[in-house]
Amino acid sequence: MTADTLPIEIQQTTSPRLSEVDFTNLVFGRNISDHMFVAEYRDGQWQNLRIIPYADMALSPATAALHYGQAIFEGMKAYKNEAGEVLTFRPRDNWARFNRSAERMCMPTVPEEIFMSGLNELLRLDAGWVPSQPGSSLYIRPYMFASDAYLGVRPSDSYIFIIFTGPVGNYYANPPKVKVETEYIRAAEGGVGAAKCAGNYAASLYPTRLAQQQGYDQLIWTDARDHAFIEESGTMNVMFVIDGKLITPAVSDTILDGITRRSIVEIARHWGVPVEERRVAIKEVIDAIKEGRLEAAFGAGTAVVVSPFAVIGYEGTNYELPAIKEDSFVSRVKDFLTDIRTGKTEDVFGWTQKIQ
Ligand SMILES: *Cc1c(COP(=O)(O)O)cnc(C)c1O
Repeated sequence: MTADTLPIEIQQTTSPRLSEVDFTNLVFGRNISDHMFVAEYRDGQWQNLRIIPYADMALSPATAALHYGQAIFEGMKAYKNEAGEVLTFRPRDNWARFNRSAERMCMPTVPEEIFMSGLNELLRLDAGWVPSQPGSSLYIRPYMFASDAYLGVRPSDSYIFIIFTGPVGNYYANPPKVKVETEYIRAAEGGVGAAKCAGNYAASLYPTRLAQQQGYDQLIWTDARDHAFIEESGTMNVMFVIDGKLITPAVSDTILDGITRRSIVEIARHWGVPVEERRVAIKEVIDAIKEGRLEAAFGAGTAVVVSPFAVIGYEGTNYELPAIKEDSFVSRVKDFLTDIRTGKTEDVFGWTQKIQ
């Protein structure tokens, strides 16, 4: 089945909301575009593919996802190039990861044609919602949840897959202060840390709130066994520049395989910057800070792109990190990624896709 033959019914909104949006002051997650793509899985098949006006849905109070958490999501972004064309960034990687999450949660996979055609048609229809201001983009949220109205604990028979979008600005206004968490955990070996499943984020809220009460913005998670190795930070992978090398925890079943992380690793290799993907001990990072060998510690993810940390708190001590210089790896990689995504620089990796 090709994109042209996939039957997607399109119902356009009669009350567009685009003119109500203040594009000069975009707050992450507040504005949602006019339309959404919806597909339903029933009787072993994806069906009823449609684009409809973004609106509330009626669900049974017994909807399985609301009770037992069979729910997964993705996060990706679209940008406008100078010609006003809409570009997506590595969407196939998001699709592939979505299906890995689906398998871990006993959910059906979404065929590439459905994911890509739904995305393409939706972005074509809501292209006017893609911002062109520097630092802004259209955030894209594909997700799926179990929709059986049934209270037994078992994989649902029916599912709903939706994509909606919304224009966003920068995620953090200021470089975040992060606390190394040594009591609570995000993921354990054999668990679901590598899946982008809803429950992982619910579980992170309480420890994050405790850290915020102590004056931090976000956590750095450590391994469940010893709390000695660095894993992730919120919805970001964590990377360090130490002794001129890019060092980042290797992906595992407790660390999400981030597409921003992967892209930065590939760019670093392309530039000839040494890269180490391995376990990273907190002690190694703290020692490097104390000895002045740490150039930067930063989070990497679709929402933030690249977010250098201002402070790392560990066992009650706050370590101030050096300011990021304009010619540093972090600044250069952030600009380069942004330039590829917005079509300003040649996409030597073939990562961007134009919406046709
Ligand atoms: C989404 C996410 C990331 C970042 O992945 P990207 O593909 O770069 O957006 C990292 N860690 C967690 C826990 C995430 O949910």
